[in-house]
Amino acid sequence: MKPFTYERATTPAEAAAAVVRHPGAKFIAGGTNLLDLMKLEIEAPQHLVDVNTLKLDRIERTPDGGVRIGALVDNTALASDERIRKDYGVLSRAIVAGASGQLRNKATTAGNLLQRTRCPYFYDTNQPCNKRKPGSGCAAIGGYSRQLAVIGVSNACIATYPGDMAIALRVLDAKVETVNAGGQTRTIPMADFHRLPGDTPHIETALAQGELITAVTLPRPIQGTHIYHKVRDRNSYAFALVSIAAVIQRDGRGRVAVGGVAHKPWRVETAEPAMPQGASAVASRLMAGAKPTHDNAFKVPLVERTLAAVMAEAKTA
Ligand SMILES: Cc1cc2nc3c(=O)[nH]c(=O)nc-3n(C[C@H](O)[C@H](O)[C@H](O)COP(=O)(O)OP(=O)(O)OC[C@H]3O[C@@H](n4cnc5c(N)ncnc54)[C@H](O)[C@@H]3O)c2cc1C
Ligand code: SF4
Repeated sequence: MKPFTYERATTPAEAAAAVVRHPGAKFIAGGTNLLDLMKLEIEAPQHLVDVNTLKLDRIERTPDGGVRIGALVDNTALASDERIRKDYGVLSRAIVAGASGQLRNKATTAGNLLQRTRCPYFYDTNQPCNKRKPGSGCAAIGGYSRQLAVIGVSNACIATYPGDMAIALRVLDAKVETVNAGGQTRTIPMADFHRLPGDTPHIETALAQGELITAVTLPRPIQGTHIYHKVRDRNSYAFALVSIAAVIQRDGRGRVAVGGVAHKPWRVETAEPAMPQGASAVASRLMAGAKPTHDNAFKVPLVERTLAAVMAEAKTA
């Protein structure tokens, strides 16, 4: 691990200002992703701004009947919160499908959103990787790509966004609240928060340098059966090959987002009116334009089969 300096933030805007003041600085929350990357020297921030002292660890009702989740609410607290379990079951289920109990105790809402890809070549510093080292190439294209993306890919990167929680946040139309070094706040819809790789796969989100996530908000609860279904190589402690977050009404209408297939949570709203026609009709619209590799072509039919299982479960709920 490379040497770094460290400070504890006092206010959100001061935390943002501290990251802007120090070139190459980063926030640290639970540290469960960042510290691993620092040990491997894939990330080498010269300065860490610890945000754990900020009072951003509350879950509150909003005046419009939704919920505001502080950036530092840990995954265990969020998944077990009574309001989340009752009104946003898909979120609770997605969180407990991820990582392990110990990790979820430390992992924060903001840190979870910003976890980095699990592409094996991203972790192998002997290999070219445009995400780790812009302009160096992509070892995954033409390499081993079983876990990697099948849609929204570019010639520069075929990595997936690996998280579970964000897939549920996308289906729930969540928004991300931030503050910058000047104290200005803004709200970013989840649809625009994570980016496709394009020519700049190292730029993964809409956040500017030093912009701090303060909260994630959920709109009023949506009626229907909330389901999160994760298909993976092992039944626990593994990232999704394909995951589906869905909220489905009794008449078959609903919404769906897919994980494990793209550089961001994958949702195509124009596919959703086809929900009452069944999984095949929705999946063909969701995955239109997919460009799988030889290794991961199985993911395209797996999306349809997983969605069919989710729809069948909704019928019996
Ligand atoms: C073995 C293992 C298995 C895992 N399995 C899964 C899984 O199956 N599913 C899954 O979804 N996840 C999984 N994870 C990932 C885990 O969920 C993340 O490591 C965790 O959520 C990151 O949260 P954190 O608070 O520890 O973030 P940190 O490691 O502290 O930070 C991560 C990033 O977020 C930035 N950051 C933190 N807080 C803020 C903020 N408020 N504003 C702006 N930037 C901020 C940091 O600068 C850093 O870049 C796994 C992790 C491990 C180690
Ligand atoms: S797929 Fe993306 S993360 Fe993986 S090697 Fe290529 S550029 Fe790097």
